[in-house]
Amino acid sequence: MSSSEKQPSRHENKLLPVPGPTLPYWRTELHPLDSHHSTPELPAECDILIIGAGMSGVSVAYQLSQAQPQDNTTTTSSPPPPSIVLLEARQVCSGATGRNGGHAKVKTATLLSLIAKHGPDSGFVDDWDAYVGAQIHALKAVVEREGLDCEFELRRSYDTFNAARDAAEIRKSFAEALRRGDAWTRERDLVVEAFVERVSAVRGARGAVSTPACSLWPYKFVTQLLAKAMERYPRLNLQTETAVLGVESSGDGDDGGSVVETSRGSIRARKVVFATNAYTAGLLPQYKGVITPYKGTAAHLAPPAEKGPVYPHLSHTYNLEYGLDIEGETVDYLNPRPDGGIVVGGGKYLYEAQRELWWDTVDDSTLLNPIVKGKYFEGYMQRNFRGWEDSGTVADRIWTGIQGQTGDGFPHIGQVPGQKNQWVLAGYNGGGMSLIFLAATELAKMVKDDLPFEEIDPIVPKFFKTTEERLKASGV
Ligand SMILES: Cc1cc2nc3c(=O)[nH]c(=O)nc-3n(C[C@H](O)[C@H](O)[C@H](O)COP(=O)(O)OP(=O)(O)OC[C@H]3O[C@@H](n4cnc5c(N)ncnc54)[C@H](O)[C@@H]3O)c2cc1C
Repeated sequence: MSSSEKQPSRHENKLLPVPGPTLPYWRTELHPLDSHHSTPELPAECDILIIGAGMSGVSVAYQLSQAQPQDNTTTTSSPPPPSIVLLEARQVCSGATGRNGGHAKVKTATLLSLIAKHGPDSGFVDDWDAYVGAQIHALKAVVEREGLDCEFELRRSYDTFNAARDAAEIRKSFAEALRRGDAWTRERDLVVEAFVERVSAVRGARGAVSTPACSLWPYKFVTQLLAKAMERYPRLNLQTETAVLGVESSGDGDDGGSVVETSRGSIRARKVVFATNAYTAGLLPQYKGVITPYKGTAAHLAPPAEKGPVYPHLSHTYNLEYGLDIEGETVDYLNPRPDGGIVVGGGKYLYEAQRELWWDTVDDSTLLNPIVKGKYFEGYMQRNFRGWEDSGTVADRIWTGIQGQTGDGFPHIGQVPGQKNQWVLAGYNGGGMSLIFLAATELAKMVKDDLPFEEIDPIVPKFFKTTEERLKASGV
């Protein structure tokens, strides 16, 4: 039997990406690699196998391809460059990366909640903020170096607060942080209280913090980065529409790899990288209850063509905290696009109490009823932004996507505990765009050179390391 002939499955992966997902705005211009097979058959074996072709998997593949001799030649003294297989259950960038808000930042509220939980001197906040800052510049650098045409913009973002109590709280917390001299305040500032609504254009905003951010077209970034890697490194084999059903360590001691069973047959891999974010526990059961899939939504809004874009252009991205009188955050994210359209997401407070709609599900083939029934994204800009009242802006596309939530709020990066030849990068809690690229860069070094987490660039916060203790302690 050839390696790519279908064999009966011994595994039941309950967290497979579903067929027929909703169509996000970002996937309306498809790349030639979208459902590509580098070879008609799956290879029988490979050195490094990466599962998942979102931002995580493709960034790891890109970094591995960069680290190898470009001409793929070998000398008698050097081992041959590794063969790499990238497997994707659906199409390239059809998971969360192709469905997100398209901007990278860390919200001020996230940093303040870390201070509230761990104290100002714990290092969590400054490490996290420094990491996201470095990530934004790393994204800028790779876009420029590779000439990626993905509408990258280095930007600022406003965290706005409409409730008087939230605005007062943010001013108080920010003043305390300034007094302590917290490093994370260096690149952020409070908008002058009297002018918050005028400066941010957000109707009813009473407090705002300006923060660093960047935005890009995530699908174009991922597919073009992958194309660069494949052009440069022909030993990178992409197989889309190939679901991984199970991964088993072969148990042959230190040199033993894994047998990866897929919907198109099995591959023996020396090393395996799980870049499966929300879906990780389907293949690594020890991550069940550690990384939990949950459903979110976003939409594309635009003024009708006959009216044209609204001027002046909104140049910042946003997190809009409405401060409604219900428990939890009532926050949306919003990314004004260079063409005058808007990508906006959130509205979770409308359905948060109905957990069966969004928690522990991988179904991104349906919309969220409370969002649709409530026509949440209709008239959104007219309601929330000054200057947009007569814009006629409509929601021309709504979609859903699946993210991975972790109990402690940190991603899991590094060697799978107890598995010498398996690595994971997953669990970004809705903020992967600001967390993935540098983690993938460093994870590629771990995989290639068998480096422990402790020897990678310390810019990756040590609390991102996936450990036995975190697996045991987690409870989402
Ligand atoms: C609606 C929404 C809005 C968001 N907004 C933002 C934002 O504005 N900013 C931000 O920073 N983050 C945002 N996020 C989160 C961000 O998109 C994710 O954190 C990030 O894209 C995760 O990237 P990834 O590559 O790890 O996962 P994914 O992009 O989900 O990629 C994982 C891939 O693995 C594949 N896969 C899974 N299981 C298998 C299997 N068994 N076999 C083969 N393939 C498999 C999947 O098909 C998928 O393509 C948002 C997410 C959503 C859903």
